[in-house]
Amino acid sequence: MMQTHKMYISGEWVESSNKATQEIINPSNEKCIGLLAIATPEDMERALSSATQGLKDWAAVPAWDKGVILKKAARLMRERSKEICQLMTLEHGKTLSESEVEVIRAADFIEWGGEEARRVASRQFPARDPNAKVTIEYGPVGVVAAFSPWNYPVLQASKKLAALLAAGCSCVLKPAEETPMSTIEFIKCLIDAGLPGNVVNVVFGVPGDISSFLIRDPRIAKVTFTGSVPVGKLLATEAGKYMKPTSMELGGHSPVIIYDDVDLNRVVDILVTRKFANSAQVCVSPNRFFVHENIVEKFTEIFCQRAAEINVGDGRDPLVKMGPLANLRRLEAIQGLVDDAVERGAKIKIGGCRIDKTGYYFPPTVLTDVHPKSDLLTVEPFGPVVPIIPFEKDEDVLKLANNTVYGLAAYIFTNNEKRQRYLADNLQVGTIGINDIPAHTAEIPLGGWKESGIGVEGGVEMTQAYLKSQFRYTWNS
Ligand code: NAD
Repeated sequence: MMQTHKMYISGEWVESSNKATQEIINPSNEKCIGLLAIATPEDMERALSSATQGLKDWAAVPAWDKGVILKKAARLMRERSKEICQLMTLEHGKTLSESEVEVIRAADFIEWGGEEARRVASRQFPARDPNAKVTIEYGPVGVVAAFSPWNYPVLQASKKLAALLAAGCSCVLKPAEETPMSTIEFIKCLIDAGLPGNVVNVVFGVPGDISSFLIRDPRIAKVTFTGSVPVGKLLATEAGKYMKPTSMELGGHSPVIIYDDVDLNRVVDILVTRKFANSAQVCVSPNRFFVHENIVEKFTEIFCQRAAEINVGDGRDPLVKMGPLANLRRLEAIQGLVDDAVERGAKIKIGGCRIDKTGYYFPPTVLTDVHPKSDLLTVEPFGPVVPIIPFEKDEDVLKLANNTVYGLAAYIFTNNEKRQRYLADNLQVGTIGINDIPAHTAEIPLGGWKESGIGVEGGVEMTQAYLKSQFRYTWNS
């Protein structure tokens, strides 16, 4: 008998009210590893009314004690990381060491949330009238509808929960259906740390059904989503109909610009490691490689050699460095982008098609001679494909780098400080890495420009997104 993984509603782990389930697939071998309960409208209604009560329950917990609970949850996540990682690798495919980094980083976010929960404070202004007192009061925006994706099942959910719980909000969370087991274990850490049962409710189901049910309900005050630009636009449009604020952490198509004055081996080491991390299913993954024409041949040769050495396989095998893609949709999307580029004249240097074995494996792939009209240059690949494009002049590469709807991150490799400044000042992105690719840790606010999103996650800024302010003017004689 397959285990059914349950939803968390009203402080209880429950099956669907009509017993509906869907399969959870291990992308390393395409086998079913469990069943997942799917919410009916009645289940969603119960989750909503529980979260409404949860808002009051959480408000009754003093800020200091919110900090105690969140920090304890972070400790439990660290203590249980081995078990959480096993489940994450099984359902997502990433290597165990990648799962471990993720869980520890997610625990940092929850701990950070515990610290920030204690710093939500109102402000007092000097009033013009000596009999008046003027304050700006801050309070939680209300019940949040939160949608987290499958690429980092625990980390992405932890970013949202750290911020909204610090601000005093409750929520209905819909994690990704592909990777529910590790997210469920994360939620158990919060509950075991003492989070009142109604504060976080977890449902699974048909994403569109859940989002349309929740967003239009007047009890939902805010919508937060991490995922693709098209779905982000859909949800933001729906939220806009009811004037509800949104936080949107969407896709990217990060350019990396490499000049001819760098230590090539160091740069290749960084890029091979960071490009293929998480099988390149990362919103800030370096995607479009612009390499100065003086070194493009040498760079391509060394990069291809190192990338081809990456051992692709089941993430549970300690010798494996890159797991499969997380689902069949990604495999088909990546193949489509490669085929389109090749039809337009691109040359495949390494990789290029699905690995011929069971599992959603796609090898590191490098393309040169990519036609400017290829989809690969404008559509986020979210997979292990690298187009290498030569450039000569600063202005040309800047124009190419900015030539997408995305604005998440960009990376510059040069020792020329004037160039570093010129590019950093003119690249239209929310994150710039100069001579390195920075990790997004809890203390850093990360957010996208252009169509890559609205708002930031992390940093002291994260809590603001879940607060509402009230101007309060009191006159007493
Ligand atoms: P997708 O657009 O079908 O779905 C993206 C995410 O949105 C999934 O988690 C899905 O469950 C959810 N979703 C889809 N429709 C929804 C709806 N109507 N309401 C609520 N949630 C909904 O794409 P996909 O194949 O799952 O993922 C690939 C694309 O998603 C990539 O191109 C990438 O841009 C994006 N993505 C981005 C991030 C990120 O970190 N920003 C994470 C995961 C996926």
